[in-house]
Amino acid sequence: VCPTGAIIPKSEINEVWNDLQDEKSKVVIQIAPAVRVALGEMFGLPPGEVVTGKMVRALRMMGFDRIYDTAFAADLTVVEEAAEFLKRSEAGEGPLFTSCCPAWVKYAEQSLPRQLPNLSSCMSPQSMMGSLLRHALPEELSIEPEHLKIVSVMPCTAKKFEKKRPELSRDGLPFVDHVITTRELGTMIRESGIMLDRLDADNFDLPFGFASHLGVGFGSSGGVAEAVLNYLDPEGCSGRIHWETVEDLSGVRKTTAVIGGKAFSVAVVQGIKSAAAIAKMVQSGEISLDLIEVMACPGGCAGGAGQPVDRTGEKRLARVKAVRSAAPAEGVRHAGVNPFVREVYTHMLGCDPGEGEAHRLFHTTYHSRKRIDGMDIRLTGPSGAEAR
Ligand code: SF4
Repeated sequence: VCPTGAIIPKSEINEVWNDLQDEKSKVVIQIAPAVRVALGEMFGLPPGEVVTGKMVRALRMMGFDRIYDTAFAADLTVVEEAAEFLKRSEAGEGPLFTSCCPAWVKYAEQSLPRQLPNLSSCMSPQSMMGSLLRHALPEELSIEPEHLKIVSVMPCTAKKFEKKRPELSRDGLPFVDHVITTRELGTMIRESGIMLDRLDADNFDLPFGFASHLGVGFGSSGGVAEAVLNYLDPEGCSGRIHWETVEDLSGVRKTTAVIGGKAFSVAVVQGIKSAAAIAKMVQSGEISLDLIEVMACPGGCAGGAGQPVDRTGEKRLARVKAVRSAAPAEGVRHAGVNPFVREVYTHMLGCDPGEGEAHRLFHTTYHSRKRIDGMDIRLTGPSGAEAR
């Protein structure tokens, strides 16, 4: 069951069409890693076929003013999360749970209030990208901030909940105006009369359209942990990380990584049930972990609820495999060697990861919450970056 209550998601297709027709607006779109390995299924292509270039061409034909890659923001997430991880480790603070998955974040807010201080204060890549675009684009495009419309294409229905979080907005403007799923994008492309399978390839816009190989890897389970470990220790992790299954805990894999001479226990968790079990074990001291990646969907985002229907799980397996090879820049393996990530910190923000402007733009807070009489009620003040 989707803990975000987003199982009957509202389609925002009409709102996106309206924005595209509004002459005063500039409409910018970002696309999550897992979308590119599933969208082709809606046009008769096999599951796992990488359609990045065709998808970008279709979006340009539909009238979007800028087309960016959420995997670039995944690289930013890696840089910020690595800084947070090292800071907490030096301070001897407890394990760090990832926070990219809004279904997991909401579950933690509802059911694991004691773990909220251990939830990474990094925004998800979707929200980091939105926050960065709100910061950078009005001046670049010479428009009033309210005329910048930001659309996300996500494999995920829970992202529709995430974009409504009040803390993911600035000066009254949400970081993301509309979230559409992979299926909804397929519908819009069809409504435009575009035959995606017959298009030539196009490229994302720069600078926010260039992602590392492992940034694109966020689209499958294990991708976040692998990207963070590679960023922290590129030499040690240059081969594939060896994950071991954890006995009696389905959906959980574990590894030990040595970074700067220190050994860290890292776990990757698929599914809310397994995440709840791990959190309980962490709380009781039954297991000792330093970094825990949690994704609510089987296989991670490649198997998200916004992807084309997959009754047997076979399509998901093909997508998971494809995500690993979907990055165009094989030479740029991790966020630390993405030149555009460096440019953001050096020229745009003027600070180190996790500091000053980067902290203001890329970090958030969490609140314990309950559902009372069908209403979503926040019970506490913020727990996260501001609370620390
Ligand atoms: Fe959304 Fe599922 Fe990915 Fe979580 S794992 S972000 S719920 S698609």
